[in-house]
Amino acid sequence: MAKPLANKVALVTGSTSGIGLGIASRLAAAGCHVMLNGIETAAQAAPIVAKLKSQSRKKISYHGADMSRPDEVADLVDATVRDLGGLDILVNNAGIQYTACVEDFPVAKWDAIIGINLSSSFHTMRKAVPVMRKAGWGRIINIASTHGLVASVNKAAYVAAKHGVLGLTKVVALETAESGITVNAVCPGWVRTPLVEKQIDDLASAESIGKDEAVIKLLAAKQPSKRFTEVDQLGDLVVFLCSEAAANMTGIAIPVDGGWTAQ
Ligand code: NAD
Repeated sequence: MAKPLANKVALVTGSTSGIGLGIASRLAAAGCHVMLNGIETAAQAAPIVAKLKSQSRKKISYHGADMSRPDEVADLVDATVRDLGGLDILVNNAGIQYTACVEDFPVAKWDAIIGINLSSSFHTMRKAVPVMRKAGWGRIINIASTHGLVASVNKAAYVAAKHGVLGLTKVVALETAESGITVNAVCPGWVRTPLVEKQIDDLASAESIGKDEAVIKLLAAKQPSKRFTEVDQLGDLVVFLCSEAAANMTGIAIPVDGGWTAQ
């Protein structure tokens, strides 16, 4: 039986780890050729590329563009079109975190978070939309966060960037509304990835508690289900957003947060 996204070309930024890798894996399983991206060297990324290739039997490539560098982001989109033959699905996922109160927030960290978590999505979309318009079909999924919808203390740059991602999502959705392209955002709550592992460690050391207790405390403070979302669940949601069933969904933000933003 034909796979739902057979031979579509997908670019997933920040896909050597965590949520991005989960999304890339589900897209490849649904039949996509995938361009992976991350901060690793080609040699470091090689085992990830090889594993995904053997699991999916699709074309899997890797490009180490630094998403804080507009010239490298442009090259990433060009390389995807050149090496994989097009660009049908763009998942803007690369992101970093840093926590400090506003008066202690390092300027360089602010710039890096705004660059990687927000501006990179502009730089990919401005290059990807013309390719998708030409094809008359495209799917753009921006991985925002519950922090695109609500705030938490000590996350000025992250919250500002993620709110910006939702605004950008709506604008590009309106601009492409009649072109066969949809643009949506996914807003995960807590997902246990290296990005969150650091926050668990920080909480454990700040409160002199064990890691297991820190996990319970972290979830209880925000996420009523008291469960992490799994990366495969986010991957399957992205596959759904790429399906015909979702063809008239555009410009929206979908929380996957165990009730966090219902409170
Ligand atoms: P992660 O740390 O596991 O993975 C981050 C990925 O981004 C890695 O592949 C890394 O190589 C890449 N990356 C980092 N800096 C980069 C750069 N300058 N250029 C290119 N790639 C770079 O993180 P994650 O938790 O999987 O987060 C992925 C996305 O999901 C982020 O946008 C994050 O804000 C968002 N998110 C995460 C959670 C969570 O609970 N983990 C919740 C909501 C939203």
